[in-house]
Amino acid sequence: MADKMPALFVGHGSPMNAIEENAYTRTWERIAGDFPKPKAILAVSAHWYTHGSRIMDESQPQMVYDMYGFPHELYQVRYNAPGAPVLSRKTRDLISRDVAVDNSWGFDHGAWSVLCKMYPQADIPLYQLSVDAYAPPEEHFRMGQEIGILRNEGVLILGSGNIVHNLLRLDWNREEGFDWADEFDLYVKNSILSRQFQNVAEYKAAGNSARAAVPTPDHFYPLLYVLGAARPDDKVYVFNESRIMGSVSMTGYLFK
Ligand code: ZN
Repeated sequence: MADKMPALFVGHGSPMNAIEENAYTRTWERIAGDFPKPKAILAVSAHWYTHGSRIMDESQPQMVYDMYGFPHELYQVRYNAPGAPVLSRKTRDLISRDVAVDNSWGFDHGAWSVLCKMYPQADIPLYQLSVDAYAPPEEHFRMGQEIGILRNEGVLILGSGNIVHNLLRLDWNREEGFDWADEFDLYVKNSILSRQFQNVAEYKAAGNSARAAVPTPDHFYPLLYVLGAARPDDKVYVFNESRIMGSVSMTGYLFK
């Protein structure tokens, strides 16, 4: 019997976290010690944003460096985890909508920038499910519910995005968040802690703060998979709770 694995949402922030050490990355490292080592990791990354749902099923997926203009060192990061073809097929079977097999992508920085801190040995099988840009929020939540059973088989469900993510409004000289960023992050936190996940799926009801925080939902939707995979008997832990550079939230949630 495998250990029950958590469902984990990480605010990944800058790709530079992969090669930097800071309070956020130290928390990621520590969290990996808070539960047994997974048998496999299913990552839902903001950076695999597709038309329709897709899943990779290669035994050795490639890496993709889906960011531009960063220092050379970042493109030298290797995260050569094995894939998980059998689990990939099982995951497809669990999801009631069509999921296309697609190996044209690979491990993207939403996954590897976090996992190279959590599991630097890259010895845990890893596969990614894409985020369908055209599915409504409740559909992402439902897919999370459908894949949640994988937690019983030792699979860590990892959503990687940012709850507040508005790159057009970034202020590089500002450490903290804008008021609307704080407000939206708090709206999500209160909804999660009171188990009103429906309010997270219906985030647009938060109004102006939601419009500013989630101009496009790519970085927000991975959270909905994690909430779908959460269970009533999970405890929820909030970590890295903060907003940076005005318009990015680093806040994460661990359900275990
Ligand atoms: Zn990102």
